[in-house]
Amino acid sequence: MRIDCDVVVVGGGPAGSHTAMAVARFSKQNIRVVLIDRNERSEFGKKTKRGWTCGDAVSKRSLEFVMENLGIRYERPEIEHEVDGVLVISPDHETKVLFDGEGYLLNRKLWPQKQLQYLEKFGVEVLFGVDARQLIAEDNRIVGVKGTSRDGEPVEVRAKVVVDASGSASVLRANLPIESYVEREIDKENDMEATGRYILEFDRVVEDETWFDPRYCIIHLDQFLAPGGYCWTFPKGESKVNIGLGVQKTALDRRNAAYGLRDNLTSLIDQYVRANRAIVNPREPEGYPDQGNTYSTWQVPVRRQNDCMVANGYVVVGDAAWMPRPIDAGGLGPSLYGSVILGRNVVRAIEENDVSQDGLWGYNVEYVRVYGYQMAGFEVLRRYLQTLPNDDISFGMKHFLSEDDIESIKRREHPRFPLLTNFLRVLLDAELRRRVRERPKLARSLAYVANKSRRLIRHYLNYPERSADFPRWRAQLLRELNEANERLGLT
Ligand SMILES: Cc1cc2nc3c(=O)[nH]c(=O)nc-3n(C[C@H](O)[C@H](O)[C@H](O)COP(=O)(O)OP(=O)(O)OC[C@H]3O[C@@H](n4cnc5c(N)ncnc54)[C@H](O)[C@@H]3O)c2cc1C
Repeated sequence: MRIDCDVVVVGGGPAGSHTAMAVARFSKQNIRVVLIDRNERSEFGKKTKRGWTCGDAVSKRSLEFVMENLGIRYERPEIEHEVDGVLVISPDHETKVLFDGEGYLLNRKLWPQKQLQYLEKFGVEVLFGVDARQLIAEDNRIVGVKGTSRDGEPVEVRAKVVVDASGSASVLRANLPIESYVEREIDKENDMEATGRYILEFDRVVEDETWFDPRYCIIHLDQFLAPGGYCWTFPKGESKVNIGLGVQKTALDRRNAAYGLRDNLTSLIDQYVRANRAIVNPREPEGYPDQGNTYSTWQVPVRRQNDCMVANGYVVVGDAAWMPRPIDAGGLGPSLYGSVILGRNVVRAIEENDVSQDGLWGYNVEYVRVYGYQMAGFEVLRRYLQTLPNDDISFGMKHFLSEDDIESIKRREHPRFPLLTNFLRVLLDAELRRRVRERPKLARSLAYVANKSRRLIRHYLNYPERSADFPRWRAQLLRELNEANERLGLT
């Protein structure tokens, strides 16, 4: 089968579906859009063989952004539950900090079915059961994609722009066959988290709000249970949870070696479920909405987004572009923002008849300005936090995190640790001075990370308007990051 169109989107996850809708909507359906997903219709958007693996939490702000911009509406049953915020609990369970505003818990199996209705309404042609394996290149530009249908038939879709939304294991990005600034590989040891979760119902007989609260998503920081990551218990109802954790491979190896253990992701998730005293008699839900989606593991990138997300005729979005926030691995928000921004820029490039790297460059610039400018700072903070023992995390949350920091994190901004970076404040506050003397290295490092993050944000706000200036900008970025890694002992 061969199809010729204007835009082909690979991947029917949230990034691909919403990008396809955005291109159709912003072009008033004058651009022919084809979307390829390797799943059949009933399993559209399924990440892996085992399920639509996700924590299912998305902020109200992100979902409203995509609904307003695309003129679409999500409600029950794809939205399963509403929460007032995210509570982060210290390893010693003594400090509880409310981050992030209101949000929703999605049903990730049903959500793509609603997306399909909109895709069809917007005139997007969807090819189910097609595995896209290879980009087609001519004269150093991408002109389409090749794949195979379920029955082994070759499929070729030619397009002016190929959108790679095929998730974190993208083979298209990894084998991008033209010269470009797009990075092909991620540092799997350090910048990819192994993560998984159950969806469970349980008997609500033990009330303990540090373990389950239907009003809040709960994040437990614990370097023993989730080395280099965190555990979560997200409510999907009054007695239903999405419960799981993520780990960094090197941190897990270190922890296993230190304690003479042989834990893996699955054994850790099981330990966490058992440790959660509010989850009594856990069992897999039986109804259709969760069938085939009750337990699965996968991976999520936790570095800054790809420094460049465009090449001649090619753009990358969502997990394929490493968009999830480094600090909490939340990838739905950035995917939704990224889709709308990308859709607008693809339409502009096609209307201006320039789908080269330069013609598509506006996507890089706009994404960085709207969402991506914080991510390098979060990457440094995340890498530093991953090295801290539980004791330091509990101490830092109790004594060094200010109200201002919490407000910053709620706004998705980097905490500034004013308690530590404001010299006068430390000087005048005897109690704080005592705390700083107790953990001088922790205090110094957090202050350094906050200042470094400010520098990185300034650097990102100067993201080059033209591709010609990119190499110099990137070289400076890498200098900043290397300096941080050396200073914090992360190399
Ligand atoms: C365990 C876990 C928990 C998470 N929890 C949260 C959370 O609570 N909140 C949050 O915001 N984020 C969370 N994330 C991250 C979030 O799930 C992702 O950021 C989000 O799904 C990214 O969407 P995407 O469209 O880029 O990719 P995906 O959702 O991975 O979708 C990719 C799609 O492309 C298809 N595909 C892949 N390769 C091909 C191919 N070669 N040809 C055709 N089709 C292909 C896939 O089958 C899939 O349909 C979590 C991730 C994991 C793994």
